[in-house]
Amino acid sequence: MENIAYYNGVTGPIEQMMVPMNDRACFFGDGVYDAMFTWNHVPMAMDDHLARFYRSAKKVDIEVPVPVDELRALVLSLVSRVDSPTAMVYVQVTRGIGPRGHAYRFAGERASLWAFVRPDVLDPMDRDYRCITMEDTRFLHCDIKTINLLPSVIYAQRAEEHGCDETILHRGERVTECAHSNVHILKDGALRTAPCDHLILPGITRAHRIAQCRQMGIPVIEEPFTVAELMDADEVFFTSCSALCCRVREIDGRPVGGQDPELIARIQRAAWDEVLEETRQA
Ligand code: PLP
Repeated sequence: MENIAYYNGVTGPIEQMMVPMNDRACFFGDGVYDAMFTWNHVPMAMDDHLARFYRSAKKVDIEVPVPVDELRALVLSLVSRVDSPTAMVYVQVTRGIGPRGHAYRFAGERASLWAFVRPDVLDPMDRDYRCITMEDTRFLHCDIKTINLLPSVIYAQRAEEHGCDETILHRGERVTECAHSNVHILKDGALRTAPCDHLILPGITRAHRIAQCRQMGIPVIEEPFTVAELMDADEVFFTSCSALCCRVREIDGRPVGGQDPELIARIQRAAWDEVLEETRQA
């Protein structure tokens, strides 16, 4: 199939799927999600993404209606039915279906489970990326992968309007993350990245890049850094499940990075090697 979607036991092409208006996704954005990427028909870092999905759900008191083994089997079965070897896999749980009312008691017995798999491509690592910056005015629970993404939608739109790829967010001087990725800098041979607190999503790709840097003997500093440090970094890059290590060369129209091409190339090579290793079919 070209793509496939799932909603509470029903599957079909995503364009034909219908969901009840009373699903709390519609009125409240009352749910969480996770997304991963397939290469060679294999979802990358699937267990990490599913673990974060259950963690996000727990943080907002939503019980995912199936155990993780069942969800993993569902994901693999959906992936196997899509022709494209590279695809986005999306899973979402919402508090359920019921008449509009804020408290949980309106939500019905069972949470709703959603998923889809659709063809997609990884962001290439052999080109330079351009970003803008914006004040991070999101709420203070950015560690939860909520489906309430209106601020991120606006940030992504502003980046596009500037002919850019991502928006780097900051709260005052402190850089947090991007509209839909984490941002990192290289300085004096070390990787610097914001710590995993309530101001950022703990990116799975971020964690993998950090682990690889440590393995390669590259020092990792998980501490807040400033906009000035961002602009003065040796290299800047962002990561997400579809952006394994995207090198940024321009921010707000000013050139940045470009001072440690060997180190960022090593990190990019390691990222790519990990994909090939993980997705090699037996
Ligand atoms: N930060 C935000 C706000 C995101 O939306 C995402 C991905 O969707 C990330 C970071 C990167 O997370 P991951 O590497 O797990 O895809």
